[in-house]
Amino acid sequence: MERINHWIGGKLVVGDSGRHGPVFDPSTGQQTHEVDFASVQEVDRAVEAASEAFPAWRATSLSKRADILFRVRELVDQNRREIAQLITQQHGKVLSDAIGEVARGLENIEFATGVPNLLKGGYSEQVSTGVDVYSIRQPLGVVAGITPFNFPAMVPMWMFAGAIACGNAFVLKPSEKDPGASMLVAEILKEAGVPDGVFNIVNGDKVVVDRLLEHPVVKAVSFVGSTTVARHIYTTGTANGKRVQALGGAKNHMVVLPDADIDMAADAAVSAAYGSAGERCMAISVVVAVGGVADPLVQAIKDRLPAVKIGSGMNADSEMGPLVTREHRDRVAGYLDSASAQGAKVVQDGREHHLFGADGFFLGVSLIDDVTTEMDCYKDEIFGPVLCVMRAGSYAEALKLVNDNPYGNGTAIFTRDGGAMRQFQFEVNAGMVGVNVPIPVPVGYYSFGGWKDSLFGDSHMYGPDGIHFYTKQKVVTSRWPDPGTSEVDLGFPRTR
Ligand code: NAD
Repeated sequence: MERINHWIGGKLVVGDSGRHGPVFDPSTGQQTHEVDFASVQEVDRAVEAASEAFPAWRATSLSKRADILFRVRELVDQNRREIAQLITQQHGKVLSDAIGEVARGLENIEFATGVPNLLKGGYSEQVSTGVDVYSIRQPLGVVAGITPFNFPAMVPMWMFAGAIACGNAFVLKPSEKDPGASMLVAEILKEAGVPDGVFNIVNGDKVVVDRLLEHPVVKAVSFVGSTTVARHIYTTGTANGKRVQALGGAKNHMVVLPDADIDMAADAAVSAAYGSAGERCMAISVVVAVGGVADPLVQAIKDRLPAVKIGSGMNADSEMGPLVTREHRDRVAGYLDSASAQGAKVVQDGREHHLFGADGFFLGVSLIDDVTTEMDCYKDEIFGPVLCVMRAGSYAEALKLVNDNPYGNGTAIFTRDGGAMRQFQFEVNAGMVGVNVPIPVPVGYYSFGGWKDSLFGDSHMYGPDGIHFYTKQKVVTSRWPDPGTSEVDLGFPRTR
């Protein structure tokens, strides 16, 4: 069985902990790799390599760092397909979607190439007579990223692009389910000229994560994953004095008002609910149909389902691939049983698809109508190709549903009414809002993040917030005095 090792100090390092885990091809159900799980000592070695690389990297000029990031950009661009294939082979999403993932990650690298401009400070001349004040932003040191299975290339790019551009050294702990794409990216970074030790990967599980959270040299931790783990990362990391941004799970509502274009809303709901088999933190998992739009909308969604082509992600015809593991597929399918037991109407049961029960981890598209707030399929993040429909009597009722939900990642409104849309934007409690756009993932020069249980910490990820997160501010007050004006003054410094 082919092994996936660690990447420490610019080279592959074979794990010696004796612990490892399986990586599957979800479309066949076959195990393809064994990934090394690092021990505490191996994590320490990666942190040490990063720590050794940091002083020279932070002293590297902004123009040289930008130059290297431009080369990273070129090489990731040239290797888009290879990275995407690894994603498809280990995650299961279809190749076109994986290529899209790499493209969105590339945006973060492009943003980071602008680091000379992004790190510009402020300067105020003559704040007091003969005194100038300026602010600078400096890197933190060694920073760590812990990433989920569902975007094995893009989410690491959300983190390391900004982190290393700002002069930090980075330790990545990718998802143990699909670490292959990150290993290729490590080689690309080396080829682009990122010095050894500036980017490291330790593969593994909770042992690795918990060591990173307590390691005194690690100054900041970025996390993306489920809410339970995000909360653990935030409380433990901050208790250990680290800066932490921890993005959690989601339950994204798409509110469809009675005046919406039904076909457009149905196209959007199907695309956003079933793309990547629903394994997206910005997937639409709940459609909230307001008033009379419900029946025609459910019908329009249902009419589109037979056309969704399900199959291996490497097959060019496939629009939706399998789920990531058998256990996850079975957990997702379980919500179809609980939903009908709890009084919802299963309009389309994905278990009726002929690939359910094949060797791969497939589940067909599923649609549940008449969902209410106390049902498990509403309370939990399902993270699969299951779309719930809730019916609301009014805009106010729909808004209350979104705002009462513990998650607040993304939400969308479909309407032709600008006033209603503006009201929604004003009063909805979610971090990312789409207006007739079902998956409002911000472009790389904005920042990504949810509210409520979808994000713990103050900073959103990537974009301007990312630069802020990976640097600390220093303010310098300087005087180049005429020695003749010097005198003793015990009073508190004031402007004069
Ligand atoms: P996960 O929380 O199971 O795992 C995320 C990372 O944490 C992995 O690297 C994993 O090895 C590690 N981990 C798992 N359990 C741990 C534990 N007990 N202690 C320490 N570390 C642990 O998440 P996942 O299943 O890989 O990814 C899916 C989840 O990620 C979904 O909830 C999804 O909504 C969320 N997600 C959120 C965003 C966002 O931006 N908010 C983006 C992508 C995914």
